[in-house]
Amino acid sequence: MTTRDDTPLWLFADQLGPAVYGGEHSHREILLVEATSALRRRPYHRQKLHLVLSALRHAERDLGDRATLLKADSYTDALQRYGRPVLVHEPTSFAAEKFVHRLQEEKLVADVLPTPTFALPRSEFAEWAGARTRFRMEDFYRDQRRRFDVLMDGPDPIGRRWNFDEENREPPPKKQDTLGAPKPYQPREDDIDEQVRFDLDRMNLNTVGVDGPRLFAVTPAEAKRALTRFIDYRLPTFGRYEDAIMGHDWAMSHSLLSVPLNLGVLHPLDAVYAAEDAYRDNKAPLAAVEGFIRQILGWREYMWHLYWRFGPTYTHNNELSAHSPLPDWWTTLDADHITAECLRQALGGVRDRGWTHHIQRLMVLGNHALQRGYSPSQLTEWFATAYVDGFRWVMPTNVIGMSQHADGGKLATKPYASGGAYINKMSDHCGDCAYDPKKRLGDDACPFTAGYWAFVNRNQDLLARNNRTRRSVSSMERLKDLDAVLEQETTRTHF
Ligand code: FAD
Ligand code: SF4
Repeated sequence: MTTRDDTPLWLFADQLGPAVYGGEHSHREILLVEATSALRRRPYHRQKLHLVLSALRHAERDLGDRATLLKADSYTDALQRYGRPVLVHEPTSFAAEKFVHRLQEEKLVADVLPTPTFALPRSEFAEWAGARTRFRMEDFYRDQRRRFDVLMDGPDPIGRRWNFDEENREPPPKKQDTLGAPKPYQPREDDIDEQVRFDLDRMNLNTVGVDGPRLFAVTPAEAKRALTRFIDYRLPTFGRYEDAIMGHDWAMSHSLLSVPLNLGVLHPLDAVYAAEDAYRDNKAPLAAVEGFIRQILGWREYMWHLYWRFGPTYTHNNELSAHSPLPDWWTTLDADHITAECLRQALGGVRDRGWTHHIQRLMVLGNHALQRGYSPSQLTEWFATAYVDGFRWVMPTNVIGMSQHADGGKLATKPYASGGAYINKMSDHCGDCAYDPKKRLGDDACPFTAGYWAFVNRNQDLLARNNRTRRSVSSMERLKDLDAVLEQETTRTHF
């Protein structure tokens, strides 16, 4: 009879690191599954499928004799074929959680263990959240810093400040095409990647985006190298230009660690402590280090826990009654169809790499979708499939909450809508654009500037009730050409 101690461990494709299969589980056999039905279910970015298959197959190679990788139509088929009940860690979405419990009832899964790929356990977040209905990231983040003793000087934050956001909002440097930061780590592709590429070509899947060299780490060893390169060379400039966009610098000083973090091959605390060490060793300034730690120990953990807290129906929220379907040029990533330089570059980044940095997601793509009233649930689905780091848990709070304000302000205090002036300040795009960020009317009217007023007009009741947005409604009321702008935007089909 199989004793519990010898029960093999089944790893989902986002549980591929030593935090999941090492430590007390080091002796267990490992089951990995490549389920073709999951690959076919949605139109994923081609490079995302590559990353996931490459990660699974590299895990099989790295784990050697411990691992069995089964290729099957579905997970259930694979588990039945495997023939032994398995342990599994809590998966990272509601749908997968339900599925795993069904497998437990069918005795294919012996037990479900807590997920070890985040810093704060779910049970401890539940305690922290208590009966709160409104959440503030800043409160959560400070408690995370205290709990994990990160950048602390006894009970106080190092530098006597919790937050260096003010220093971390600089526009891009002038007279430079790129930030000039050393290049990010890029993995060297190997025979596994070659085979993955060959298999994906043969599978004839319905994918989006173009194929390209693998840009992101998929193994624990690669993740370590990517982290080290970021910390040693790129972290010092991370903070200052965190919110800036440059047309000729797709990665800026971002870490490109979301893929290895979301695949589970890099543990968030390893990234956090490495950044803290860089500060303590005088290798990076406090503002940059705090900015980076805030992203991982703060935002990432916060989004993860709120995903569970807000529940499976959160994606149905549509407070701003936005019902427009995503246009075809958007879903097919047809960036060449677009005139607006900022939008063209952002959508082109998704097409070419399945990745853009945060500000392009929030202030270009998300902002455009918000202004045009695209359906938040369709947009959530799009981000989850078109982005290489788009996993189920990370989408709803980022898209429904932060980007589209579809939850009516549960997560963010105001909608992230802005006109061309913001993009002009924070990017170098407008100089190369056929539109003029200052114009709201006419052939060269910036779609973001005009779209902003159309957005304010459409949602004026809600914006007028919010202290942080009330002024935008009074500014709109003073526009003499508002009717003409609204008319122009209702008929605009090209951006
Ligand atoms: P950096 O800029 O170097 O930041 C470091 C790390 O912080 C990231 O790797 C990420 O793990 C974490 N992080 C920072 N902000 C967030 C956040 N809001 N939510 C979760 N993690 C965060 N992140 C994803 O991992 N997957 C997604 O599919 C995703 N979709 C997004 C969609 C929208 C509309 C928005 C506004 C944000 C989204 N994010 C997503 C968050 C963030 O944009 C990406 O994590 C980040 O751009 C990834 O690049 P990076 O690793 O270079 O990040
Ligand atoms: Fe974008 Fe408007 Fe600037 Fe063009 S002018 S790049 S559309 S903000």
